[in-house]
Amino acid sequence: MKGVGGFYYVDAACALYECRARGVFRKQGRTPLVGDIVDIEPTDEEGVAFLTEIHPRKSEMIRPAVANVDQVVLIFSCQRPNPNPGLIDRFLINMQKQDMETVICISKIDTVEEKELAELKEVYVSAGYRVVCISNETGQGIDEIRKLISGKTTVLSGPSGVGKSSLINSLVPDFKAETGEISEKIGRGKNTTRHTEIIPVDDDTMIIDTPGYSSIEVLCQDEDEIASCMREFIPYLGECRFASCAHISEPDCRVKQAVEEGKISLKRYESYKEIYGSVKSRRKW
Ligand code: ZN
Repeated sequence: MKGVGGFYYVDAACALYECRARGVFRKQGRTPLVGDIVDIEPTDEEGVAFLTEIHPRKSEMIRPAVANVDQVVLIFSCQRPNPNPGLIDRFLINMQKQDMETVICISKIDTVEEKELAELKEVYVSAGYRVVCISNETGQGIDEIRKLISGKTTVLSGPSGVGKSSLINSLVPDFKAETGEISEKIGRGKNTTRHTEIIPVDDDTMIIDTPGYSSIEVLCQDEDEIASCMREFIPYLGECRFASCAHISEPDCRVKQAVEEGKISLKRYESYKEIYGSVKSRRKW
């Protein structure tokens, strides 16, 4: 359910156990992740156990560090805070690199004009993403999110202040009451997520809440990997005049041509150039 300071919290038949991992994991270089299915061995002390085995994972991510996730929902708001394209696109690149199904959720849609929202949405729809627009104030879009997460394990991720906690409260109304006891034990802060943690919605639906962030580094070590993590660039890759095309200043570049034809959003392309430059300079140092 959650890992804090070397302790792993395991939900076993409605009882929460505080576990230490057996030393064998460290020796093998294995770390239990939130979302793992594990075996535990209770000790004489009530609610305390050893984590003895990690079952094979159907999926695994490094950022955020979670296992057995079906999809990720990236939340950002129309305003307060304003969308940060560099941050959003870095996140999307990382999900693409980790081959993780990602849905975009735009929040606080009651705070902007329809036209502004439509333009914002179009950037990501044209990039091939499913986009769900929500308002925690009016309740718009909440049912769509509910359907989207049903029967799945979904990571909710987003910058601070975009209304992630409000969304969780809309989806799991009795969440606070139900987990009152657990919150005391594991010290959950009010409205701020400091750790990655599982919130059960129903028997087969789980949300993994993750800490908000204000910056992200792309997982690509090499700037040449980035283009293939931009979904809508993929059909054009390999069609440029130069095999080594960086899609920036080279002649006869199919990606740039697609931008000019409006098939690739100029905003996404500008983001690409900025991220390409930042990875390149990071690698040089
Ligand atoms: Zn090119």
